[in-house]
Amino acid sequence: MAFEGLADRLQSTMQKIRGKGKVTESDVKEMMREVRLALLYADVNLKVVKSFIKKVSERAVGQEVMKSLTPGQQVIKVVKEELTELMGGEQSKIAVASKPPTVIMMVGLQGAGKTTTTGKLANLLRKKYNRKPLLVAADIYRPAAINQLQTLGKQIDMPVFSLGDKVSPVEIATKAIEQAKADHHDYVLIDTAGRLHIDENLMDELKSVKENVKPDEIFLVVDAMTGQDAVNVADSFNEQLGITGVVLTKLDGDTRGGAALSIRAVTNQPIKFIGLGEKMDALETFHPERMASRILGMGDVLTLIEKAQANVDEEKARELEKKMRTSSITLDDFLEQLSQVKNMGPLDELLKMMPGANKMKGLNNLQIDDKQIAHVEAIIKSMTKKEKEDPDIINASRRRRIAKGSGRPVQEVNRLLKQFEEMKKMMKQMTNMQKKGKKKGGFK
Ligand code: GDP
Repeated sequence: MAFEGLADRLQSTMQKIRGKGKVTESDVKEMMREVRLALLYADVNLKVVKSFIKKVSERAVGQEVMKSLTPGQQVIKVVKEELTELMGGEQSKIAVASKPPTVIMMVGLQGAGKTTTTGKLANLLRKKYNRKPLLVAADIYRPAAINQLQTLGKQIDMPVFSLGDKVSPVEIATKAIEQAKADHHDYVLIDTAGRLHIDENLMDELKSVKENVKPDEIFLVVDAMTGQDAVNVADSFNEQLGITGVVLTKLDGDTRGGAALSIRAVTNQPIKFIGLGEKMDALETFHPERMASRILGMGDVLTLIEKAQANVDEEKARELEKKMRTSSITLDDFLEQLSQVKNMGPLDELLKMMPGANKMKGLNNLQIDDKQIAHVEAIIKSMTKKEKEDPDIINASRRRRIAKGSGRPVQEVNRLLKQFEEMKKMMKQMTNMQKKGKKKGGFK
C-alpha cells in the first residue's frame, strides 16, 4: 500500500508529542521540522508542504492547543484535520444528471489505467449504487483499446457500445448516448483516447467530444506511481479541458503518496476514486478523512465495515453464528466463510485498516495469497456431500482420493482436516464456557 514511508515517519513524530501535558513553541517547531521532511520524502509538492506547515504551526501554537487539557493529542488532531483538508475535506459525490443518462467522460494519458478504471467504475456504480451503466469504446487510436473494453465488459457482464475505429469519437459518443436513452441506461461512461504525452491533437479531440456531448463529469485518470508528474498532468488537463475530478490509480503499489496529497491543493479538483489493484473490484470512493486516519495509523474502520457489509451476507452470517453455537458447522460453511472474506480483498490490506495495526510487527510480511485459499477450495470441493458434513468418515483411502481430485498433496488434505477439527473443538469450548458463565450469572 502507498504511504508506508510517510505513515511510519509521521506516526513516530506523533508518538513523541502524544502524551505531552505541555506543548511549547519549540516542541511544535521541532515536530514541524520532522513533518516537513516526511512530506518532502513522500514527494509532496514543495508549495503544498510549505502552506501545510504554516497552517498547522499557526494552529498548534494557538489557543485551541495551549489551553487544551491534552495538548499533545490536540496537536495530532490538528495535523489530522489539516491533512484531511489538504486532500479535499469532504468526500465529493458523483454527479447525477437531472435527466438520465448521466454522462461521464474518462480521460487520461496512455497507461494510466483509464480503460481499466472505466470498467471498475461501471462495476462500482452497479454494485454500490444499483445503477445501470453503458460502457463506450471511443479510444479509436490505441490498438486493442476497443477489444480491451469489450473483454472487461464481458468479464463484469456489462454492455459495451462500439462503432469500430473508423468513426469519429464525437459520433461514437453521440450515438452511444442515444442508445443509452433507448435502453434506459442511467450512466454512460466514455473511454476516450489517450496519448503518451499531452499534445494539441489529443486536447482538440477531447474538447470537441466535451462540446458535443456536454458531460456531467470529466474524470481524469492518473497513475499515482508517477508522483509529481501525475500532479502536472492533472494541472494541464484541468487548465486546457476542465475536469471535474481525478481518479488516482495504482495506490496498491509502493508509491510514496505525494500525488494524493498534492493534487487537490495544486489543481483545486478533488480526488474522487482510488484504484487499488488490477481486478474489477479494486476501486474505492476516496474519503479524505479516512485516508488521513490511515496515514496517521488511526485505522479506517468505516471502510472495513463497508467492505464487510457489501460482501458478507447478513443472513448467512447469522446462520453461521447459530451453527457455531451448536457445533454443527460443516466444511461447506467453512468454504463459504472463506469465499466471503476473499471477496473483501487481500487479507493483509484489510488488517491494515485496523487501528494500531501498523504497530503489530510482522504484519507487513503477512502474505496470505489467493493461491492458498484456492487450494483449500479445491480440496473441499473434491469431497462428497457426506464427507463435508461429517469429516470423521474421511479415512486414508478417501484422503488419497480427495488429494488426487484436487491436485494437492495428501499432507495438505490432512492439515486442512486437522485445522477444521481444532476449530470445531475451540468453538465447543467457547460455547461451553459461555453456558457455564451464564449459569453462574457470570460473563457473557
Ligand atoms: P490506459 O492506457 O490508461 O487505458 O490503461 P489501462 O487501463 O490499459 O491500464 C494500464 C495497466 O495498468 C494495466 O495493466 C492495468 O491492469 C493496470 N492498472 C490499472 N489500474 C491499476 C491499479 O489501480 N493498480 C494496479 N496495480 N494496476 C492498475
